[in-house]
Amino acid sequence: MLKITVINIKSPQDSYETELKVNNNQSQEFWIGRASDCTIQFNNLEVSRYHGKIIFDQGSYYFTDEKSTMGSWLNNKKVNVKQKYPLKTGDNLNIANCFMLAISDYDITTQPTRIDTRSRNLPDNSVDPYTPESNPIFNETLQRYFPNSIPMHAYIQITYDALEAYGFEHKNTMGMTTLCRDEITEPFLTEVIRRWGASFNCSSLAGFVMMGKTALAAATDHVPIVDGKRRFAFYAMPHIAISKDGEIGKVYRYGIKKVSHACGALEAIAKELLSGRLKLEMDMQDVEQTIVRQKILSHIYYGDKPDLIEMTKLAAQIIAKDTQNLLSAVDTSIFKYAVMTGIQIHGPMDTTWISPQEFYVVDRDIPENKKDLFVFEDKSTNV
Ligand SMILES: [Zn+2]
Repeated sequence: MLKITVINIKSPQDSYETELKVNNNQSQEFWIGRASDCTIQFNNLEVSRYHGKIIFDQGSYYFTDEKSTMGSWLNNKKVNVKQKYPLKTGDNLNIANCFMLAISDYDITTQPTRIDTRSRNLPDNSVDPYTPESNPIFNETLQRYFPNSIPMHAYIQITYDALEAYGFEHKNTMGMTTLCRDEITEPFLTEVIRRWGASFNCSSLAGFVMMGKTALAAATDHVPIVDGKRRFAFYAMPHIAISKDGEIGKVYRYGIKKVSHACGALEAIAKELLSGRLKLEMDMQDVEQTIVRQKILSHIYYGDKPDLIEMTKLAAQIIAKDTQNLLSAVDTSIFKYAVMTGIQIHGPMDTTWISPQEFYVVDRDIPENKKDLFVFEDKSTNV
């Protein structure tokens, strides 16, 4: 049996889980597409009528794209049509850039399985990109600036495990994320959905908390009521890229020759400060960037020219404070929630790391209504 979390990329709160059941270990095909007889059916014109299929054959699952119009991607790599790709736990299958199928072969709803990033299901003879030896210069740079960083999968798992002790679990909790709009942050959202199920995407430029109290009310309205309480897990963080050669802000994405920048929004402000030419007026064509700029400027001294590392750490502090302010409006007689802040780091070979900062639970039933959780190894206070 294959378990799949079907994620609507544009509307992650509509995500759901499904299982592909195989009869007597016989070979079987499960179609993905718009046609009504597809096993995984989408009402979206970007998806082809018979877009692709998952094949069960001799104990293994495979995916093939059946000449779809808009294409399919396996773990961010575009797949060739009519080619058979083996599927494994943790794979993300992107259908027409509209839907993500997150593959799990275990029963996540009853028994979350610990994902050990050191022994993930890697193909033979491939290197684990998360070991320091795989990317020594990157690793040195990561340790220098973000010494408490851990692989993103491990981070989400640790937060999930810690929150279980406070009554948060897949079945009763909604995930929420405030990340940068940049598509490079998508694996984080996918992982949150894989752990927590349907999630609310509150993304904005640079991951700043743009969502006001009205939008928060709409988001929390999706939170299920279980045992008279509504629970949500809120992840809020900016992002930064570090290349294989330790270049700050740069990432070379698989299959794209041109360098990408992260975070582009923060980098633009760093450049403006350096040049001394700041756009201070409200630009209605660029509202979010105007807000990010104003928030950054109100937190630095006149003449300061923070580099991208300093800027990202400052952004993380502002986001953490804004998150706390925003959520202070939440009615704790109904809601209990967890907040996780930090910095998301994009490394080489499509790796994602998290430098954790705050982690706390707000619940009326615990002393002082708030509990800070210390579950991450603190290697340094330099974060
Ligand atoms: Zn960004």
